[in-house]
Amino acid sequence: MVKIFLYFFMLSNIFALDFTINTRGECDKNCDNTVLVFGGIQGDEPGGFHAASLLLTNYTFTKGKVIVVPNLAFDSIIARNRGTNGDLNRKFAAIKDNDPDFNTIQRIKSLILLPEVKLIVNLHDGSGYFSPKYISKDKNPNRWGNSCIIDQKNINAKYGNLEEIASNTCASINERLLHKLHSYHLKNTNTKDGDEEMLKSLTYFAITNKKAAFANEASKDLPTHERAYYHLIALESYLKAAGIEFTRDFDLNPYSVKKVIEQPIYVTLDNRFLLFLKNSRNRLNYIPVKKDFNYQASNELTAIYKDKNSFIVQYGNRFQTRLYLDNKIEYSNLINKLNLNIDKQIINTNFATIHDAYDSFMVYPINGARVNIIGYNAKGDEAGILIKKNMLQKSFSVDKNGNIYRVEVYENDKFIGAILINFKDKK
Ligand SMILES: [Zn+2]
Repeated sequence: MVKIFLYFFMLSNIFALDFTINTRGECDKNCDNTVLVFGGIQGDEPGGFHAASLLLTNYTFTKGKVIVVPNLAFDSIIARNRGTNGDLNRKFAAIKDNDPDFNTIQRIKSLILLPEVKLIVNLHDGSGYFSPKYISKDKNPNRWGNSCIIDQKNINAKYGNLEEIASNTCASINERLLHKLHSYHLKNTNTKDGDEEMLKSLTYFAITNKKAAFANEASKDLPTHERAYYHLIALESYLKAAGIEFTRDFDLNPYSVKKVIEQPIYVTLDNRFLLFLKNSRNRLNYIPVKKDFNYQASNELTAIYKDKNSFIVQYGNRFQTRLYLDNKIEYSNLINKLNLNIDKQIINTNFATIHDAYDSFMVYPINGARVNIIGYNAKGDEAGILIKKNMLQKSFSVDKNGNIYRVEVYENDKFIGAILINFKDKK
């Protein structure tokens, strides 16, 4: 007798993450040159979604308007797969009503169709290196990486000289190559003449609706920051083509791009508790927020989702930390500011903030509330005690280096708010 095991996969809805629409800059007189940038249409292409996200965190737009969606397939980005419900970029020609991506596709289409949107860039990471001639198994006409892609030579629309604009972008990237192998080429997929797969794509939907659209590919053979470096050169070229002006707060080279991708991430939980994610411990215990907390992150690629009895904090494809909540927490709003003495300076601060200390800190006593410094062992209220780093147990820091500590304030057992103290070496 053969025993058959039936497995039921209970797919919970932890990945109900919608992409975010972010607007920067302003229209110049009338809105007719807005640029729309997409990243992350496939969840496993971090070069594209990190580049798009950097437009939001490290660029300032001084002329013209851009709309950036850095996290199109946000659930797939967080789940680290190509497409949780299949490839989003093959659903633009036709989609069934019952497809889980139906609403996502409708939202993307309505963005593309906004009258002000005149130029669209979709960022991808592709295999190997495209070349119109066969060079090697990694660099040949069947590869996609490092190419500027158009569906046809031109369309009858603003910025409709697609080939010319994409060629200029390719040329501007080729002036800044890190290696000869990385050279960019124009790839015209001639979609309407029979590229069946590309007929279903976002860019083809856009050009058939009279919107200039380009795809930019970086090679999956490159580390993420080098892919993002090439994407950013391409993006800047397309932005300039549409007359958009901007500044950025880092130099456009691979080292600086890596640094800004890895800049610390700030996440506030219910505006009471701050997560500072830089070299964070893999798990953080007794986080004093309610189970249905809201959060706000400093970039659009960070999400928190429930996983069994904990919550995972993820930045794009990268795991950050796992949170275990202090169960049954209640809140108090007794105070909304805290008075501290840090290195002999008196400060007054909101909760969910981080403060550098070079020597010591002390929280001034609060009527009706008590202070709990995580990693310091005293009975009762810990306000009024001057704390130095060597008085704290390193294993309680939130970072692996043992520098950053939680200072929490309670009214009886009700949580009011917390701050972080970041001990630094002497200036
Ligand atoms: Zn792709």
